Amino acid sequence: MSKWALISVSDKTGLVDFAKGLVEQHGYGILSTGGTAKLLREQGLPVTDVSEYTGFPEMMEGRIKTLHPKVHGGLLCRRDKEDHLAQAKEHGIDMIDLVCVNLYPFEETVARRDCTFEEAIENIDIGGPSMLRSAAKNHASVTVVCDADDYAPVLDALAAGGDALTLLRRKLALKVFQRTSSYDGAIAAYLEGQVGESSALGLPERLSLQLPRAQVLRYGENPHQQAALYGRFHECFEQLQGKELSYNNIIDITAATYLIGEFEKPTVAILKHTNPCGVASEMDLLTCWEQAFETDKQAPFGGIIVSNRTIDADLAKVIAGIFCEVIIAPEFTPAAREVFGKKKNLRLMVARDYLRADSLTEVKSVVGGLLLQDRDQYPDKPSDWKVVTERQPTEEEWAAMRFGWKVVKHVKSNAIVYAGAERTLGIGAGQMSRVDSSQIAVWKAGQAGLSLKGSVVASDAFFPFADGLIAAAEAGATAAIQPGGSVRDEEVIKAANERGLAMVFTGKRHFKH
Ligand code: 5GP
Repeated sequence: MSKWALISVSDKTGLVDFAKGLVEQHGYGILSTGGTAKLLREQGLPVTDVSEYTGFPEMMEGRIKTLHPKVHGGLLCRRDKEDHLAQAKEHGIDMIDLVCVNLYPFEETVARRDCTFEEAIENIDIGGPSMLRSAAKNHASVTVVCDADDYAPVLDALAAGGDALTLLRRKLALKVFQRTSSYDGAIAAYLEGQVGESSALGLPERLSLQLPRAQVLRYGENPHQQAALYGRFHECFEQLQGKELSYNNIIDITAATYLIGEFEKPTVAILKHTNPCGVASEMDLLTCWEQAFETDKQAPFGGIIVSNRTIDADLAKVIAGIFCEVIIAPEFTPAAREVFGKKKNLRLMVARDYLRADSLTEVKSVVGGLLLQDRDQYPDKPSDWKVVTERQPTEEEWAAMRFGWKVVKHVKSNAIVYAGAERTLGIGAGQMSRVDSSQIAVWKAGQAGLSLKGSVVASDAFFPFADGLIAAAEAGATAAIQPGGSVRDEEVIKAANERGLAMVFTGKRHFKH
């Protein structure tokens, strides 16, 4: 046979048509391994077993099938070098011009809950990556296919020949090294988990970011910055209408998703630049919207709205009255879609999985590297909280504290949230001093015409001095929720007692810088 194609695949999808094309259109002879050869023969294709060609049987339970100089020589031999060709001839090595391999499903195997260590090890493909790498190195002469999506383009390029084939071969070689490096990355990550190389947090010892590029964005945070999106973002949302997502939209959508993920009952949140402008919960959705919007009617302009329930036409009509960039919900009724459809630029996003944010690692770039941390998903349990004042909170104050504590976690530090039961009243975000954040929250509530009398103040970290708490009391708050842990806790508790406030220490802070 003058022209060999070696085919050895675990996932046999689409293979038969591809092999037929190789044989019937392009005159290849097929070399193949156990299971693959069996399938192709059943389909009536002429196949030579690799073992017959090499003179070596497949052995050691398939660990050795294609690891032989007659295979790798046929892949690596430079067709433009006399000495290579002479050596090949001397050792009975035929040229193999095409390799089609996909690997043992290591990633899928270890993703199964019941996967044993032994199974994982047996699913490390050795011969497959070796052939892919040999062929990819010699892509000047060899076509290497590791993805079923390439079967049809390869048949076309083989027919076209010339530059089209040369260019495709180079792209396919790149794809091989992307595939084998992510395959090895998955093996290394699995073994790290098994041999305790990762830290207590489960963070990897070494970092290999093997996220595929999902989208090149028009620009980054500002128009003069290049940007691209990596990973599975688009699997979590479906965009129903509107302009293409921007870099800032993606960040805001993420913040909105994490915030709404805190709530089980019907909830609406409005965010701007990742901070909540208003949140309300546990009412019908229209009332949630009204109360969230009431917190701040100015900031939501150009913001983002998120709901954890279906948005219907009644709510859509109200929301459509303000200019916002993105609306996210698990579902929109057809009538709601009709309402929003008139606003062509508005991005409507369906969030899959009811916006339950999955457990994720957060990444920040720093000088010379990256910082990784677990996302702040600490499951706050009110049963762990401690009342530190003489007065116990009332039922309504408890409700407002539980609610305010969920929201304050998603506000940039220093974060202060004034809340009533199930709604925000005033939010102060991102100030360098906690007192400033508090004053902004009070001022914002005043601007919105909301009274803070009887409200609860939530602080993402402890009050370092009594002044912040006193200011809150003067603004009308009757209860406070904060982590505690300041050296001046006693002073703060005393100030609360003197003013008749109830105060709860959560024991956990929620910085978000
Ligand atoms: P088959 O189903 O044809 O019996 O096996 C196909 C699989 O075997 C492919 O995933 C291919 O990557 C893998 N494979 C081919 N040669 C070797 C080898 O020499 N050693 C190992 N461990 N796997 C191989």
